[in-house]
Amino acid sequence: MKCPGCASDMAATMVQSIEIDRCPSCGGIALDKGENEEIEAIGVASVIEGGVERAHEHRTTTARCYECNRDMIALRGAGDVEYDWCDGCERLFFDRGELTALDAFVDT
Ligand SMILES: [Zn+2]
Ligand SMILES: [Zn+2]
Repeated sequence: MKCPGCASDMAATMVQSIEIDRCPSCGGIALDKGENEEIEAIGVASVIEGGVERAHEHRTTTARCYECNRDMIALRGAGDVEYDWCDGCERLFFDRGELTALDAFVDT
């Protein structure tokens, strides 16, 4: 899978025994639709369900879903976590740093 942020090939990696795609180039993280249980387990669900609003007023995104060949939509979840969403395949993409509030994504 290509990174929505920089088009590099992403690498599957394990976070708390959950497989996610992480970009070795820019550090972005992608989560596929259907991984809701996993999203819940790593704490991202609270971000997504904590009141999603479009973040267009705050920023624009250059992220692109290469699976669907369409631009992603900038959203903002609970707190100040901003992420990108593909309305085609419902993939989520987090830039490096956008998930640092979550312990699961702190680099060790
Ligand atoms: Zn990248
Ligand atoms: Zn897509």
